[in-house]
Amino acid sequence: MTRLSPAGATPAMAQWFALKAENPEALLFFRMGDFYELFFDDAVAAAAALDIALTARGTHAGDPIAMCGVPVGAASAYLARLIRRGFRVAVAEQTETPTRGRPASKGPLARAVVRLVTPGTLTEDELLEPGRSNLLLALVAEPPARGKAGKGVADAWCGAAWIDVSTGLFETARLKQGGLSALLGRLDPAEILAAEGLVPADYDSRRAPAMAPVAADTARQRLAGAFSVASIDAFGTFSDEECCAATLAVDYVRRTQAGKLPRLAHPVAQTETGIMGMDPATRSSLDILRARDGGTEHTLLAAISRTVSAAGGRLLAEWLAAPLTHAESIARRQDAWCWLKDEPSARDTLREALKKAPDIARALGRLSVGRGQPRDLAAIREGLNAARAAGVALAGGRAPLAPALQDATARLGGAEPLRQILSTALAQDMPARLEDGGVIAAGYDAELDEHRSLRDDSRRLIAALQAQYVTQYGVNTLKIKHHAQLGYVMEVPSAAGARLKECPELVLRQGTASMARFATEELASLDARITEAADKAAQREKILFAQLVSTVLAEADLPPIAQALAALDVFQSCAVLAGGGTWCRPHVTDDAAFCLQGCRHPVVEAALPPGARFTPNGCSLAPDHRVMLLTGPNMAGKSTFLRQTALAVILAQAGLPVAAEQVQIGVVDQLFSRVGASDDLARGRSTFMVEMTETAAILNQAGPRSLVVVDEIGRGTATLDGLAIAWAVLEGLHSTVRCRSIFATHFHELARLVDTLPRLCLHTMAVREWRGQIVFLHEVLAGTAKKSWGVHVARLAGVPEPVVERAGRLLRELERAENAIPEPLPLFAPQKTLSPPVENTLKNRLMDIDPDTLTPRAALDVLYDLRKEA
Ligand code: ADP
Repeated sequence: MTRLSPAGATPAMAQWFALKAENPEALLFFRMGDFYELFFDDAVAAAAALDIALTARGTHAGDPIAMCGVPVGAASAYLARLIRRGFRVAVAEQTETPTRGRPASKGPLARAVVRLVTPGTLTEDELLEPGRSNLLLALVAEPPARGKAGKGVADAWCGAAWIDVSTGLFETARLKQGGLSALLGRLDPAEILAAEGLVPADYDSRRAPAMAPVAADTARQRLAGAFSVASIDAFGTFSDEECCAATLAVDYVRRTQAGKLPRLAHPVAQTETGIMGMDPATRSSLDILRARDGGTEHTLLAAISRTVSAAGGRLLAEWLAAPLTHAESIARRQDAWCWLKDEPSARDTLREALKKAPDIARALGRLSVGRGQPRDLAAIREGLNAARAAGVALAGGRAPLAPALQDATARLGGAEPLRQILSTALAQDMPARLEDGGVIAAGYDAELDEHRSLRDDSRRLIAALQAQYVTQYGVNTLKIKHHAQLGYVMEVPSAAGARLKECPELVLRQGTASMARFATEELASLDARITEAADKAAQREKILFAQLVSTVLAEADLPPIAQALAALDVFQSCAVLAGGGTWCRPHVTDDAAFCLQGCRHPVVEAALPPGARFTPNGCSLAPDHRVMLLTGPNMAGKSTFLRQTALAVILAQAGLPVAAEQVQIGVVDQLFSRVGASDDLARGRSTFMVEMTETAAILNQAGPRSLVVVDEIGRGTATLDGLAIAWAVLEGLHSTVRCRSIFATHFHELARLVDTLPRLCLHTMAVREWRGQIVFLHEVLAGTAKKSWGVHVARLAGVPEPVVERAGRLLRELERAENAIPEPLPLFAPQKTLSPPVENTLKNRLMDIDPDTLTPRAALDVLYDLRKEA
């Protein structure tokens, strides 16, 4: 940022400098008439990000001032683009209306920043994804003085608080700093308030410019004040760190909304117990809510969602992000959707009702910050109607309701008086903006009705006047029209106009070559009456709108109704999915069982070309064979199998149906998945370093109740190195961690460990050889792979035939040499150097060639010769 000083600025620019100084980290949208203008470096950055013209306006300190602008009417589209690119925007409005006769000497109109738009504090639908929550997360570390001496950073505590301004959600947690990665992975916050170094580098770009946390006592007081209670203990027990984080978040939100705090649910302390642990690497390897390419199409969420409302979509995403570990809570969710599955007609009626349910939570969010539009009130009305219809749908079932459905029904009935008020108060078709008028229904308010009928009667009188004037002035084509500047006028062709000019009661207001416009006293007085009545109607409508908004905001039953509708949507989505007959209700138990039958990968299955069939596979990791060693060539379906097993656990413990015939799972406390390339080269860590860091994380954190699925440990280094590491890791998982695991590998040698590791079982991907070609059957069988088939896969991938043939020959040579390695494996012996037979002669021949002097023809000849020799 160029150093700029306000010295010598024009009055308007001096105002800009003052507002910019309040929000140095944000682009300043400076309202000037119908535009938001940006100046100096802000303009340069915004013009580049928005691809709009950069111009100049006046000079400052001798240099032209860079400027660009966006029209106020289209501002949200531009805002959305800036926010997506990581900018923050401070919106400065004119807080004074220009009045006629205001002396220029008073200086520029007063302006103030009315809002700071940041990624984590959005409320507008245009800026939000409907099916995802948008969280602001605040983190505050335990003061070092209180940490015991010598304690590692990972063991130090920190407080977390997260807010979704768009829905009012507010939660907190106290956790070890070592658990931050998992929390960040689960919440995927849009914006983070944290001291530098507290969050992992991956999340650094989401950090907002730091505000210092306040002391714990102040934090408690301020939090209690924000919720108008004497003490925050009214809402549960919160640690000092949680209170500090919560206050940090609340203060930031308040600052972004220019001092106005939106309606927030009171904070709820969460415990991380009860939620299955998944670190960010696990989440990203499984494409749960987002695919690795950042898209949402090929994800678990997309594959299983049959939700019909945005709130239902968000809740389903939350459940997938945080599977449970209490078998009872899981069964409660299952009972609910199984009830709906068995009551198809209740389910269909419910589904129809929910399709009409707008996003109550987000409408409430906008209303609470004074950014509500008529359609937000309409959303509440339609939401309440949908809630009523949903209640009726559930009452239509035959069997007694499942407990979670009973709870939902009990909540749906609330706010009936409000529903009735909104039904009578609001017009059927709502205008986009309050200023357009017509928000309030006729018959709701006598005063409004009176203004409106006065306005409409006058309009009718004007229409009647036209017929009267036609006969009175003898002009058949005479029309009465409303004109923006002139008001109501009588319009006649210019020939008639020349004649009527003589009439004393007519005042010529405008004449052109083709027509003339006259005002009359009657028209003028009717016009004034209409304007006055319309103004009064608009004023009255504004008051009534504000009253309705505060009635809505005072209704405590609305948030629970929104939650109940979201839950019902998830339940019906599961019922629809399971109703197809290919998804089952898993049996989740408290023991160490693990048996999947006929399990599929929902995302891979959905992406198969038409006609292709997904081959289901079972997977048993019962205690006496809890470690599976899986071998098989590339492309045979290993990673698909690993992932589908992990996904089955997530689905089962989230209380959702699983893509399988039958499933029994003893609760998994932590899931670790390392499948697929995790290149981190951009951050300067080699593939092998990343692999080892992740392996270390598993071995240090996994316990006997965890599930670990890993693919190709040790692939990133030399063969014997890699084999040794894979061997030791497998032993560690089997004998030290003692968890259920699937270990996929190319090191077929590891199969020999079955003699020394009693819980190890061997499986391989079935392939068939057919006329020298490989056919993948995608079936998991007992046993080990006979060979790697890498060369065949290279051919399938289109590697040029000479290279494939050459590789085949080299492989045979290497295998001969390998067979000479004595048993047991010489893991720590120096790697045997293998010299391919033709390498040296080839090399000598190649070194003799001078490519710079070779003609293309001669080069081809050399190649043919070399081939003959090889
Ligand atoms: P690997 O990890 O062994 O290299 P993948 O799991 O990536 O193999 O599978 C390769 C491709 O094979 C997948 O993209 C998918 O199209 C197909 N595939 C994998 N498993 C199955 C299956 N069980 N049924 C049908 N097709 C499968």
